[in-house]
Amino acid sequence: MSETTIESGDAAVKGVLDKIRQLASRVFGRQPSRQARPDAPTGPEAWQKTSAYIQRSFRPGVEKIVGEMTDPANKGTFEGSPARFVDVMTGLLKNLYLTTLAIGAGGMDRVTREEIRRADRMVAEQRRYLIRWQTQLERTPRERWSAGQIITRAMMYAESAKALLSWQATSVNVGVSFELPFQPADRTDCYNNCKCHWEVKVIDAEKGDYDCYWRMAPAEHCEICINRAKACNPLQIRGGTYTLDMRGLIRK
Ligand SMILES: [Zn+2]
Repeated sequence: MSETTIESGDAAVKGVLDKIRQLASRVFGRQPSRQARPDAPTGPEAWQKTSAYIQRSFRPGVEKIVGEMTDPANKGTFEGSPARFVDVMTGLLKNLYLTTLAIGAGGMDRVTREEIRRADRMVAEQRRYLIRWQTQLERTPRERWSAGQIITRAMMYAESAKALLSWQATSVNVGVSFELPFQPADRTDCYNNCKCHWEVKVIDAEKGDYDCYWRMAPAEHCEICINRAKACNPLQIRGGTYTLDMRGLIRK
């Protein structure tokens, strides 16, 4: 038997062992169950791109539908109905979330089913708020509808993409199996105005150890966010788990 054969045999055995090790860690270990995407854009960079999309596509979509709904010529027609406004807004949000995921993943082909499901759940949640708004509009005389105010309020919905992006950046892109207890603009009193973000420091990825800091923007004072900054300074994830007293940290 030549040396070469022994070497290649060893390599083959090593290859099999590696496979078993990988499989075992996937099934039993604390190893990340998701595929990490270390090359995905970072939080601020991804949010900048998402914001550009919001201005380029979401805003014109909002302006168009609000223009049609509030046009006196459309009084009493389908085009002028708050119900249609809600449907169009739902579609705009769906496009926004999918685009957001593609930006945060570094390409549409890298977006996973799990992420799409998340976006779908968010669309359904936002639609519930929109339907409440529809009722308000229907009860308000058309003469008192202000296109400017409606556009401003509709644009706030776009900020909800921040929570999706943050979830993606702090769990999916990191490749961890745990999920942080809350996200910016998620169950806060500042709602979609939230300017906070998570900063995740990897302590030991193999063990599932991370230190997670809730960082506030200087301008912001929502009490829930202040509480989060105190409670998560850092939030220590050890072995993929954490304990946290949620009182005062989420909107009731
Ligand atoms: Zn905040």
